[in-house]
Amino acid sequence: RQLKKHYGGKKPLFGPAPNPLRAVDGISFDVIEGETFGIVGESGCGKTTLGRCIARALEPTDGQMLYRPKDEKEPVDLARLKGKALRPYRLDVQMIFQDPISSLNPRMTLLDIIGEPMIVNGLAKGAEVKRRVGELLERVGLRADHMSRYPHAFSGGQRQRIGIARALALNPRVIVCDEPVSALDVSVQAQILNLLQDLQTEQNLTYLFIAHDLGVVEYLCDRVAVMYVGEIVELSDTERLFDKPLHPYTEALMSAVPEANPYSVRQPKILEGDLANAVNRPDGCHFHPRCSYCVNRCRTEEPQLRELEPGRWVRCHRAEELSLSGASDTLVEG
Ligand code: SF4
Repeated sequence: RQLKKHYGGKKPLFGPAPNPLRAVDGISFDVIEGETFGIVGESGCGKTTLGRCIARALEPTDGQMLYRPKDEKEPVDLARLKGKALRPYRLDVQMIFQDPISSLNPRMTLLDIIGEPMIVNGLAKGAEVKRRVGELLERVGLRADHMSRYPHAFSGGQRQRIGIARALALNPRVIVCDEPVSALDVSVQAQILNLLQDLQTEQNLTYLFIAHDLGVVEYLCDRVAVMYVGEIVELSDTERLFDKPLHPYTEALMSAVPEANPYSVRQPKILEGDLANAVNRPDGCHFHPRCSYCVNRCRTEEPQLRELEPGRWVRCHRAEELSLSGASDTLVEG
């Protein structure tokens, strides 16, 4: 609820305080147990910072992160907890990282990489650790007898499987997947996505799936939030979002997805300029300098995120009157 992560902005001894970098600026959404909730946007839009706040790898500047522990009715605010008080919830929320190479310690064997979190958190010890690491390796499609090997002996896709096994080691309920397939070959991407889906069904996992690849998001996610300079500009179930986006930024992102159809005449919407500066954001709608639908009101008045249809939220003054193109609108047979 209204989650913020700002950097800098502290007042120096002399002179006025500079503007902070608003990596995440007042974001609110719900994640339903067992779903895959996607977060998409360009590099620098704040999606990774948001994911790291949720996994409490970063401390939010402000706002709440309400989490309902298993078998309890009342939620706890993870944004307020620190140190030992946070520890039980750390087990519940794990992370899979983008880069399967740098996220694994090259001097540790798979047994140590996957077994260490179990030992540190008192979930297993001695021979039990070995047994559970073997089980986890097999569950992610690797061989249990490879546990004495080091990460460099494995391919990129296999390393991501190791990262997934490590995330599963603490029996989490929620996994924040930070672009888990973007560093992998396309053929390997499909295997990892299918593995994530199978694990979700087996263990009723909830995924927060951060990505910039809309094809991956459409394949995997139940609902999607589109981020632009630290804010959500559109939130919807995946089907309606891809069928008919409500925000011009979403439309532009979709038009950039390559089509495998030789009869496609889709014209990509080229966005002018770069992503807005998160320190000095444009007045009014932060997207207005790049928006081809911009009118005077957009330059002065900041739009709020509002529910246009049940379950569909958008931050645009003109969402009702615009008729934007979805992912398949511009295909023509002939
Ligand atoms: Fe474009 Fe105006 Fe909507 Fe912003 S508010 S996205 S500038 S039409």
